[in-house]
Amino acid sequence: MPENADSPKLRARMRAALLRWYDRNRRDLPWRRSRDPYAIWVSETMLQQTQVATVLPYYRRFMGAFPSVEALDRAPLDAVQSIWSGLGYYRRAMNLKHAAGVLASRHGGRLPDDYDALLKLPGIGRYTAGAIMSIAFQRPYPAVDGNVRRVYARLFGLTDAKELDETAGRMVSRPRPGDFNQALMELGATVCSPAAPTCERCPLSHWCRARASGSFELPRGRHVETKAVEWPLVIIESNSRVLLHRRPDDGLLAGLWELPTPATLPPGVARESVAVAPIAVIRHAITDKRITAPVYLLRREARVRGKAWRWVALAALSSYPLSSLYTKALRAAQHRLGARLSSIGAGDT
Ligand code: SF4
Repeated sequence: MPENADSPKLRARMRAALLRWYDRNRRDLPWRRSRDPYAIWVSETMLQQTQVATVLPYYRRFMGAFPSVEALDRAPLDAVQSIWSGLGYYRRAMNLKHAAGVLASRHGGRLPDDYDALLKLPGIGRYTAGAIMSIAFQRPYPAVDGNVRRVYARLFGLTDAKELDETAGRMVSRPRPGDFNQALMELGATVCSPAAPTCERCPLSHWCRARASGSFELPRGRHVETKAVEWPLVIIESNSRVLLHRRPDDGLLAGLWELPTPATLPPGVARESVAVAPIAVIRHAITDKRITAPVYLLRREARVRGKAWRWVALAALSSYPLSSLYTKALRAAQHRLGARLSSIGAGDT
């Protein structure tokens, strides 16, 4: 019978049912074997906007290379971004690195057991702070991501965001607040799916308003318009090296290395020299941009100065942080470059 979340007894029954279900159905994920706040923070940051299956190999590589706040703080930004290459939403890697610096200098290299202090760190919002507090420190803070929002919206028939957040705050409780939050996320990811929830497998179905009414519609999120963008790329090659340029520390793909465009060629390479047919046209999406990228190949030496430009040997490209836009372009040119570039940029973002 559908009810609301006002009754403490009802909330306790729901929590118990959900935790029983979680104990039987939880996926065995590497970050679930750890209570290390650092590991929880890294995994929750990687999981923002990204599927579990995509995150797994990146998480293992990242934790292998930077197993602690101290290791991350000491690592060069390039090394951090290189491990992140292909996972997308690159600001997350910058924020982790910057936050590691703050933790090392102000918090003794540890994540603080303090919600407000966590919120002051770069890249940590209410969701991530709640996840760290509940999973790592066993404190009853909610962690409401898209999956959890969907479960609560259907379970209690909630359409108002403020009301939903208040309900989430009342639902989470000791004992096992971290498992409770993860159980809700798991339920949303595997049972209460956006298009076709499998309510017969749901431990909360007895209380669910959506199931009782047969209406699983969700409040409409903000519609993001996609933009078609033409983004030509120029591979400048000389002696088995290609010329890369480092993007500014702000904005899209901040701080990553890129291939130049006809508008950002290095000094000494005339724009007219790109007036040849592209060797390939690739398609790619970054946030709201649907990119069409004609790829041009120029074989020439160019003198470059400053830290923003660098000639990189083809064999060394795998250690450079490149968005998948550029790895796709380089792969499209690999037979002309006479190199195998399969090891660069494992992801597709
Ligand atoms: S009963 Fe169905 S709609 Fe309701 S929370 Fe469970 S899976 Fe979602």
